Amino acid sequence: MNPFDRPDKSVETQAIRAGQVRTAESEHRDPIFMTSSYVFENAAQAAARFSGQSLGNIYSRFTNPTVRTFENRLAAMEGGERCLAVSSGMAAITSLGMGLLKAGDHVVCSRSVFGNTVLLFQNFFSKFGVETSFVKLTDLNAWEEAIRPETRFLYLETPSNPLTEIVDIRALADLAHDRGCLLVVDNVFCTPALQKPLALGADLVIHSATKYLDGQGRCVGGAIVGPESLIEQQIYPFLRTGGACMSPFNAWVFLTGLETLAIRMRAHCENAMHLAHWLENRPEVTKVYYPGLHSHPQYALACEQQNGAGGVLSFEVEGGREAAWKLIDSTSMLSITANLGDVKTTITHPATTTHGRLSDQEKQAAGITEGLVRIAVGLESIDDIKKDLEPGFA
Ligand SMILES: *Cc1c(COP(=O)(O)O)cnc(C)c1O
Repeated sequence: MNPFDRPDKSVETQAIRAGQVRTAESEHRDPIFMTSSYVFENAAQAAARFSGQSLGNIYSRFTNPTVRTFENRLAAMEGGERCLAVSSGMAAITSLGMGLLKAGDHVVCSRSVFGNTVLLFQNFFSKFGVETSFVKLTDLNAWEEAIRPETRFLYLETPSNPLTEIVDIRALADLAHDRGCLLVVDNVFCTPALQKPLALGADLVIHSATKYLDGQGRCVGGAIVGPESLIEQQIYPFLRTGGACMSPFNAWVFLTGLETLAIRMRAHCENAMHLAHWLENRPEVTKVYYPGLHSHPQYALACEQQNGAGGVLSFEVEGGREAAWKLIDSTSMLSITANLGDVKTTITHPATTTHGRLSDQEKQAAGITEGLVRIAVGLESIDDIKKDLEPGFA
């Protein structure tokens, strides 16, 4: 075992050192094993590998050394026993469901999760006889009431998108375990640099590596982290057959992304904090949603549960959709896109993009108003970010 895979190492060190297995070439940086298959010394060895009698590479849909390095590094950072890398964040959630669920099972899911996650549970897992109840993220009673004997897991994101609502992971983990189900946390917004759901009692962590783990908008990828028993015995068998493997090239890009994750997340938090304060003091802004502000309803919980308030914030401008669109269209540097977790700052209007499919009533219930603007704060100079927003407020 690589000594930096140990849980007592700091996340900064693990992000750079964990998982690496140096080959006979003595390379300093992780190599990329761009190979689809592997050769055997003889027929007997091939037979032993295929039967599972001996461990080793067979085919890159099953295992690949570069992908494994990424898996071991992320597992160490999240404090989990095992990580499975997959082709996208959505592939991680699909593999989770296909691995753990069967017809007749039930899931309780936060209403405030990534839009495609809602669609996956609502439109696709339902076709196989799995029912999902959606509840308000911060309403612990609603979670409790929604759990049934056949509930297999609870699923959530914290902080939520775009309103940055936060739920007490430990409280929900205790509830899940009392009732005989698992807690799954999508940790995309915080990453292990800011939040460790497994240490707070969650059973499994989901990642879209596409966001902060890459951090520079290059590759699509995902991962699942958790105990050996669930990952090896229930989720991996589906993944190996289902086929949503991560490419070794992408794994290598994510490895380079992880190296700077902790330092990037600190810088994202710093810029976002600064911007949140600036927005809060503007007369055109009626409300700012950011867990680092004292005005955030779960400020105390955020301080306790997270190691930083994150890089995403939202705010409401006076004047509804017209004012929000004018602000967005007046920027010249910020990227108008719904993506996040990039060094480039992005700006979006949730009511007509990420949450555009919701009915007016659903939007109202979710707090997605026409004047709401979301910014995923990047790493440009904060002065330039503010300068880019200023004309839109004029
Ligand atoms: C983007 C995202 C996903 C899906 O990830 P992909 O890599 O785009 O498939 C899941 N959850 C959250 C919170 C996300 O932001």
